[in-house]
Amino acid sequence: MKQSRHLETELPGPKARRLMQRQQAVVARGVSTLMPTFAVRAEDGIVEDVDGNRLIDLAAGIAVTSVGASAPKVVESVQRQVAEFTHTCFMVTPYEGYVAVAEKLAEITPISGPVRSALFNSGAEAVENAVKIARSFTGRQAVAAFDHAYHGRTSLTMSLTAKSMPYKHSFGPFSPEVHRVAGSYPFRDELDGHTAAERAIDQLRTQIGPENLAAVIMEPIQGEGGFIVPAPGFLKEVVHWCRENGVVFIADEVQTGFARTGRWFASEYEEIEPDIITTAKGIAGGMPLSAVTGREDIMNAAHPGGLGGTYGGNPVACAAALSSMETIDEQGLDQAALRIEELVRERLEEVQRSDPRVGDIRGRGAMLAFELVDPATKAPDAALTSAVASAARQSGVITLTCGTYGNVIRLLPPLTISHDLLIEGLGVITDALAEA
Ligand SMILES: *Cc1c(COP(=O)(O)O)cnc(C)c1O
Repeated sequence: MKQSRHLETELPGPKARRLMQRQQAVVARGVSTLMPTFAVRAEDGIVEDVDGNRLIDLAAGIAVTSVGASAPKVVESVQRQVAEFTHTCFMVTPYEGYVAVAEKLAEITPISGPVRSALFNSGAEAVENAVKIARSFTGRQAVAAFDHAYHGRTSLTMSLTAKSMPYKHSFGPFSPEVHRVAGSYPFRDELDGHTAAERAIDQLRTQIGPENLAAVIMEPIQGEGGFIVPAPGFLKEVVHWCRENGVVFIADEVQTGFARTGRWFASEYEEIEPDIITTAKGIAGGMPLSAVTGREDIMNAAHPGGLGGTYGGNPVACAAALSSMETIDEQGLDQAALRIEELVRERLEEVQRSDPRVGDIRGRGAMLAFELVDPATKAPDAALTSAVASAARQSGVITLTCGTYGNVIRLLPPLTISHDLLIEGLGVITDALAEA
């Protein structure tokens, strides 16, 4: 596939328009769509639409297709596996792929000592199961999550998620024994890691009490909440407190995992060892798969038959995961993520020097974002953000926003994107900003 942006028609083109009409007639409006078109194929940095337009992909399907959306090894192993068998249910008749994925996870997960994994289908399902396991291990019920957290859309995980609109609004009641504490958001709270951690620990201690607390869950970089990197030292102190008090620390690496930030896992930057890590998104080159990986004593607390599901660790998804992780290794995509960071940071800092509406640039590796604000007051500018993102989309660049205040533009390109495409895509966004 040609790796260049090309607009054959306006967006949406005639074929996309007809599909939109069909969508509007039968698809629930709660499932809303961002790009004004429909995909037919994708490879590395390009998604091609039904009208022959080629779009620059700065989203990777929300940090999923890190190895590209049709990585040769993934395609080949999926085709091979699908022809052998599609499903037996691991709990009924097990197969090697599931075990091999667990072996690979044991090798790359930054937890020392023996670790075990259980496989599921989605990030939310992984988080749900991590909480079940932590409760079973500790015999305690409470779970604490942070301001700006995102952990999914199922009943328990939307309760852990902080933001009301669109994730929780009208969907209550929420899960009991879910507590929220302040986190670390250096651009807005202006606290160093130690002070922010003291604040969080004080809330954990006085409002929940360690003897009631099964788990503390946090994304090492908060994704949907705004690509918030906690102040240095914050996570280390929180994890230390958890360990001293027998509280399971769960790192939700669903978005940050699998070389997205330049290392296998973002926890590695924080010098912490989580008790459990939840993963999904980038794990399997686009096939639905998720995992809970953790210390053996904690993982084995759940009784036989207590964990699982019909599709969890589907053999086709496992084949894709093994090939995807092999591709990350072979192509050195961790290093690719760091080169993306270098390139994007330099451009964004250049824009920031002449445009004070770019309040903050942050993230790690190929998980980078900038926050748009009123330069005088630092007030979030959500209207500007959505105007910039939709202008970029109209120009053929798949662009995502995020943030509790809706004022963050985030970049999550496939790690295999060419530098030319990356610079062009970013240029479209920054031009849209200059014109807005
Ligand atoms: C996307 C995400 C989830 C939920 O994953 P799904 O596969 O959409 O259920 C959970 N946690 C984090 C940090 C995420 O980014």
